[in-house]
Amino acid sequence: MLKNGITYMHEHITIDLSEVKNNEDCKLDVISETIKEFKGLYEKGVRNVVDVTNIGMGRNISYVENVSKETGINIVFSTGFYQDSFYPIKVFRETKEKLAEKMVKEIVEGIRGTNVKAGIIGEIGTSYNKWTEAEQKVFEAVVMAHKQTKKPISTHTSIGTLGHEQVEFFKKNGVDLNRVVIGHVDLTGDADYILKMLREGVYVEFDTIGKENYMPDRVRADILKKIQDKGYMHKVFLSMDITRKSQLAYKGGPGYSYLLDSFIPLLQTYGITSESIEKMLMKNPHAFMEGQGE
Ligand SMILES: [Zn+2]
Repeated sequence: MLKNGITYMHEHITIDLSEVKNNEDCKLDVISETIKEFKGLYEKGVRNVVDVTNIGMGRNISYVENVSKETGINIVFSTGFYQDSFYPIKVFRETKEKLAEKMVKEIVEGIRGTNVKAGIIGEIGTSYNKWTEAEQKVFEAVVMAHKQTKKPISTHTSIGTLGHEQVEFFKKNGVDLNRVVIGHVDLTGDADYILKMLREGVYVEFDTIGKENYMPDRVRADILKKIQDKGYMHKVFLSMDITRKSQLAYKGGPGYSYLLDSFIPLLQTYGITSESIEKMLMKNPHAFMEGQGE
């Protein structure tokens, strides 16, 4: 359950993708800096962070619990498997039934023998313009776990590719699209592409805010204005997907508060209303997590 307040829907409190990416920066393990930034977030009204770090991404329960305890921010844990290049070996060896069972266990009983339960299935991804056989198996397992537990699903698209295919997949498999959010759609830079998904009924996530090297924030703002004009602001979330030390404030990066301090004021200059902002930051996450979207 979420507390009343602002929710960041797609973050990683700690994550370790450094082996696969061959880059030490991709090991986010500076807890004192995270705590410092999260205390700042709390002061600005943030009450929930959905941590979509799952099996094979360096998930660390006690680390995340410490951040939550020190800062008062409620953290939602995730289950699932990320994307082909990062899968643990068992994803390739086990059946989809076994993978589903593992996810259900993390939702119902707890993660790694703790009583900390996963509240969302994610982030589950497809590769860049490619949906591998193992990813196919994971998505099928996710549908099984979702149908058993009714937990919402959060996806990863690689630079926004295969978003339409993901929507089609869930539709075909009888998943209520109100319980699915397609991730990283802002990286498409394409309003029409995103609107097509919204018309199908899924949520979409502008979750790489501040990553100007991937996509300028003014493009994100421009697309959000178009989405507002078409009346779909009730289906959008905002987040930053911070995964690297260099994205934190102490290293000169934007830091977590950038979304509230810089991006929201930018949106206002594009004509995004305070009602829309309240939806994206507060109302929509609640509706989604509680299964009350429409
Ligand atoms: Zn992702």
